[in-house]
Amino acid sequence: MDQQFFINLEEQFGAHNYKPLDVVLARGEGVWVWDVDDNKYMDCLAAYSAVNQGHCHPKIMKAMMEQAQKLTLTSRAFRNDQLGLLYKELCELTHSHKVLPMNSGAEAVETVIKAVRKWGYKVKGVPQDQAEIIVCENNFHGRTITIVGFSTDDSSRENFGPFTPGFKIIPYGDANALEAAITSNTVGFMVEPIQGEAGVIIPPAGYLKEAKALCEKHNVVLILDEIQTGLGRTGKLLAEEHDGIEADLTLIGKALSGGYYPISAVLSNKEVMDVLRPGEHGSTFGGNPLACAIARTALKVLVEENMIENAATMGKYFLSNLKEKIKGPHIKDVRGKGLMLAVELMPDAGGARKYCETLIKQRLLCKETHENTIRIAPPLVIKKEEIDWALERLEAVLTVR
Ligand SMILES: *Cc1c(COP(=O)(O)O)cnc(C)c1O
Repeated sequence: MDQQFFINLEEQFGAHNYKPLDVVLARGEGVWVWDVDDNKYMDCLAAYSAVNQGHCHPKIMKAMMEQAQKLTLTSRAFRNDQLGLLYKELCELTHSHKVLPMNSGAEAVETVIKAVRKWGYKVKGVPQDQAEIIVCENNFHGRTITIVGFSTDDSSRENFGPFTPGFKIIPYGDANALEAAITSNTVGFMVEPIQGEAGVIIPPAGYLKEAKALCEKHNVVLILDEIQTGLGRTGKLLAEEHDGIEADLTLIGKALSGGYYPISAVLSNKEVMDVLRPGEHGSTFGGNPLACAIARTALKVLVEENMIENAATMGKYFLSNLKEKIKGPHIKDVRGKGLMLAVELMPDAGGARKYCETLIKQRLLCKETHENTIRIAPPLVIKKEEIDWALERLEAVLTVR
């Protein structure tokens, strides 16, 4: 098979809203994927952390096949026998009180924006249409008009206005800036525990704890977007656990799918979610039994197969070896938490993309984020020998200029 054939099809008939690396994949298993010519690669992106459980996990596949033969879609006009079980299992696992299921991460973000605004008017007593939500510079929360409206990335925003008002942008990792930005109309503060798309930016230790205290003090809802950091990626089920806090609202998505079928969820305390009444929000596919059965198993294998602990121990091993082996004047920083790792290059190193292209020739799939950062985020099932295999290639490509 000719990879170029498939590339040409995409270029000719598809919208050019992505610039993928030119490898055409046809098959996957665990941390490994194969292209149409049967070349084998290690996947160190894991679909932006949507395949934490590894490609084609057999137990999730089985759950999907079984549910697909029974019932796939009812809409929320009727009830189904998977949704309630997913709610209960998610609440028990995450100490939440209420769940609202959607499909994509961006929809979960839109959902919390609606819920905290209504909470602001109904519970906090903010005057109509005055609600403010605070977000951070270099955030990534998705691609809808409302969400890109409060992005600080020009290519996400340019030519897409006018945008939704009601958002305030503050520097990331700065608790003082948060306190200064809060007014009596502030209803929520939405933040990523680690900024993934911005280049795996880790805030100062204790930042989330301070944010939580400030939100409590000023009656502001703390919203953690854990769509990327959640479900084991950082070595904890939720990244908030590193700071020993519980957010009021938590967004999960990506790996809730087990890599099979899109599903996202808003996890909430009772007070905020209880403001939503029938007819005020919804989604045709949100909470469908196929997605729920898959998500239940995706969560189950994450816990039962110790993928979270594996992310913590393998992440430590990977990071310490990266720090030791990847050195040189063109390396600015090597950082990470759990299996959310990054190598940042100096601005004059010629950009991360060319390194990713060279890594592909070495059969290692990594993707640049922004100009100068290479993100390394393999499925959480990665083993020590596999990390050694990756390190050999990373060292070969990243230490020579
Ligand atoms: C991927 C991501 C989203 C958006 O999820 P989609 O499913 O692509 O809409 C939102 N927030 C964070 C932190 C993400 O990483």
